[in-house]
Amino acid sequence: MTVHPITIWGEPVLHQRAAEVTEFDDALRTLIADMHETNDAAHGAGLAAPQIGVGLRVFVYKFRNEDGVPPRGAIVNPRLTLSKVSGAAPDPEEDEEGCLSFPGEGYPLRRAEWVKVEGFDGDGQPLEFVATGWFGRVMQHEYDHLDGKLYVNRLIDKYAKKARRAARKHGWGVPGLTWMPGVDPDPFGHGDHDDDVHEHDHSHGHGGHGHAGHDETGL
Ligand SMILES: [Zn+2]
Repeated sequence: MTVHPITIWGEPVLHQRAAEVTEFDDALRTLIADMHETNDAAHGAGLAAPQIGVGLRVFVYKFRNEDGVPPRGAIVNPRLTLSKVSGAAPDPEEDEEGCLSFPGEGYPLRRAEWVKVEGFDGDGQPLEFVATGWFGRVMQHEYDHLDGKLYVNRLIDKYAKKARRAARKHGWGVPGLTWMPGVDPDPFGHGDHDDDVHEHDHSHGHGGHGHAGHDETGL
């Protein structure tokens, strides 16, 4: 297994629709194993294939959830059915999302409360479940990657403006930029001790733990 560099905003594969997987073969299983290893090294809650430069409809996640779904898995050729997304303004803390391909930044975004996920595992076995809360958010975020969309493409104006400014400041928006998990400094400030499966702990209450309130900021 290999940890891969993570592509950054501006790399064309991030901004294109990824292709359906047609062969459930060893190459796919290797891709999934590499994605898990890369996601672990990046302390991510999820990682989509375009984030390691591969334009295929596959994502992995690592997220302990209350939906009875294994805390770690891969989903191939997913289909999502969303509940209605609230039109209310996003909560600056509860709804703050981040992305390993827009590293170190975070902006609030409203998502659907629940999502039905259908697809296949790495062996081609069908799977289907409903994901709620932050787990549902992870599903929506990773699925977007497969359609060439990042969460920053969905922000309301005031945050979209901030995201554009941040991208300019970092020199993003051009092809070829990556960062290397485990080598480059962790963009979301996770230490190496943080090896647990990520969990969104509501017992902390609202906003009691600062800017990077969600362990699973990187997606
Ligand atoms: Zn992302």
